[in-house]
Amino acid sequence: MQNYTLHTHTVGFDGRNAVMEMVNRARELGLKTIGISNHFIVHPHIKKSRAYNYAMRGGYSNMYSASFQEVIQRFFNNYSVIECARSAKPDINVLFGMEVDFFDDARWQNNFQKTMKILRPDYIIGAKHFVEHGGKILNVHDLKAADAETQEILLKKYWQGVARAAESGLFDWMAHLDLPKKVGLGREEKWAEHENRAVESAAKSNTAIEINTSFYKQDCYEPYPSNRILRAVAQNNVPVLISDDAHNTESIARHFDEAEEIISKMNLQRFTKIK
Ligand SMILES: [Zn+2]
Ligand SMILES: [Zn+2]
Repeated sequence: MQNYTLHTHTVGFDGRNAVMEMVNRARELGLKTIGISNHFIVHPHIKKSRAYNYAMRGGYSNMYSASFQEVIQRFFNNYSVIECARSAKPDINVLFGMEVDFFDDARWQNNFQKTMKILRPDYIIGAKHFVEHGGKILNVHDLKAADAETQEILLKKYWQGVARAAESGLFDWMAHLDLPKKVGLGREEKWAEHENRAVESAAKSNTAIEINTSFYKQDCYEPYPSNRILRAVAQNNVPVLISDDAHNTESIARHFDEAEEIISKMNLQRFTKIK
């Protein structure tokens, strides 16, 4: 059984609980390690997106940064809070993580690498919550609202972005690979070739893929990614780890038993870089 959780969010970003509350819950559950991985989202135009307005209304004031200068400050503050929890609870490992939105742009990547030398996280999760299209930055809810023709274009861009992020080698693993299914998109068989390309890119760069248990719902009882993608993961020998993507204490390690079953049933390789 995986006895750690590394994909978690805390208050100030879009989590509901404080770092110390998350750490205490992880201890109660007997986990050996918890990592806090808040959103690292930097784009010069991000504050013009609908997602930004939504986040501001929800009080998630640290989620979006227009510059790397801004994100560095946010993470310095976050990491000093994590450091407090770390020294207060010597019986559990507390790690510095981040969930980074990848933008396929040479300048972004260059600045990102410089920023990592300053922030020095213990691990980096790659994600693709946004697609750039027609001068706008769109998330999956914007995808859902688009017309069918635009949806098709946006989904292609999404998968292309995931593949580029995976092959960049910048990340330890990729988060919720088939995120558009959150809004019911991308389930058709025709998307399999795009999914496979993303998985092959991860294999080439030695990037792992998470089994994200935050999607388990009554009407669709499965994690991210789907079985179809997990078969490609198995074929390409891409290592996996289980993430709860916990935004509150109740979600920590939820559905890990189901994900463990998937790992043994499909004989998936485990991510071993961090324990
Ligand atoms: Zn995410
Ligand atoms: Zn997350």
